[in-house]
Amino acid sequence: QYRWIPFRTFAVKRESKHYPLEKIRNIGISAHIDSGKTTLSERVLFYSGRIQAMHEVKGKDSVGATMDSMDLERERGITIQSAATYVEWKGHNINIIDTPGHVDFTVEVERSLRVLDGAILVVCSVGGVQSQTITVNRQLNRYRVPFLTFINKLDRMNANPSRAMDQLKSKLGHNAAFVQIPMGLEGNFKGIIDLIERKAFYFNGPNGEEVCVEEIPEQYKQETENRRRDLIETISGADEQLGEMFLHEEIPNEQQIHDAIRRCVITRKFNPIFVGSALKNKGVQPLLDYVTRYLPNPAEVENVALDELGKEKKTIKLDPTRSFTAPFVGFAFKIEAGGRNTSASQLTYVRVYQGGVKRGDTLYNIRTLKRTRVSKLVRMHSNKAEEIDEAYAGDICAFYGLDCATGDTFVNDKAYQISMESIFVPDPVISM
Ligand code: GDP
Repeated sequence: QYRWIPFRTFAVKRESKHYPLEKIRNIGISAHIDSGKTTLSERVLFYSGRIQAMHEVKGKDSVGATMDSMDLERERGITIQSAATYVEWKGHNINIIDTPGHVDFTVEVERSLRVLDGAILVVCSVGGVQSQTITVNRQLNRYRVPFLTFINKLDRMNANPSRAMDQLKSKLGHNAAFVQIPMGLEGNFKGIIDLIERKAFYFNGPNGEEVCVEEIPEQYKQETENRRRDLIETISGADEQLGEMFLHEEIPNEQQIHDAIRRCVITRKFNPIFVGSALKNKGVQPLLDYVTRYLPNPAEVENVALDELGKEKKTIKLDPTRSFTAPFVGFAFKIEAGGRNTSASQLTYVRVYQGGVKRGDTLYNIRTLKRTRVSKLVRMHSNKAEEIDEAYAGDICAFYGLDCATGDTFVNDKAYQISMESIFVPDPVISM
């Protein structure tokens, strides 16, 4: 029996995948310049399948950037990324939001931090905590962004991850401990050991794409046990449940340790330290595993909004069912004039805080009270746009042709006036 499908080849339905909220991570990567933020971002795109190849030697660097525009920008000595890049990692959707880390207190920085639910702090194992590490740390504190730390460049001469961690403690006041330790350093940097799982990770293949998990070599067993004890002791001091076990001399299992770390990361009581070399393709995939494991999903972060343009504070509740039930609230955090791949119209990056939006919907800009139609809705994959039909609370997407300015809030019900802008420092800054 035949079923004739007209224009099948023309009517390709773009796959528009929607993840449950607990599988979404909206994160930023923060670092002092030159610590490897761009290299790490590129590796993340590669391992998540967003880009097909890592690039050959180019220019003065031992590695080239992947995207053409990035190459151009790199030559000019600055790094660019899409304002938000969508990647998939083991059933999770990670949105990487670009945060301009080198400047403090600009409205651009405030807006990009506003939409983050978590962050990776990249620290160079040679340079340790540097001036802009202090700046980005202050930014993360101001918005109480939960984060974990990746100590990078372990392959470099004079790499000293322990010193870098000591500086995180002494200069930034972090309550930190290693979750991973390196096997070898500098030219001998071979792989990493996961202290919780007690496993050794090697990264084989031309691009480190084959992750091999093995038994810990004899020479590292003692150090693993010592560092593991440090880790558990440190978390026990920060987490009530683990602290209770520690007092009763109960030994927590792996899951209990992970759960305690997760609670402490979300409440910003603990900074777990991961190690690797982005350039040498070591440690990036386990880092992504831990991003999905420890950093919060959008529903675990409290979002404060202002009612009726600044009068009253309101907590925005995300609908975990990801439906259209609650009124739509979206925040335009970044605008690219002309769009990226089209000269057609303005591309507006929107973080959805509540409810959902469909292509064709009418929204209100609460600043201008003007109606605007959502004609095209996309998700950005590094520098490519993928059309989607709808977006829900927790998502980061981009609209074409929306008439607005950055910092504008959109709602679908004119009576529902709420502003996501200007929620800077609602309460005294909490530091770690
Ligand atoms: P960003 O300024 O933080 O974005 O840093 P980049 O990713 O542009 O890296 C700065 C320089 O450090 C570049 O020359 C990279 O090739 C190099 N780099 C990045 N990661 C590593 C690493 O793990 N090891 C070594 N040896 N160099 C790295």
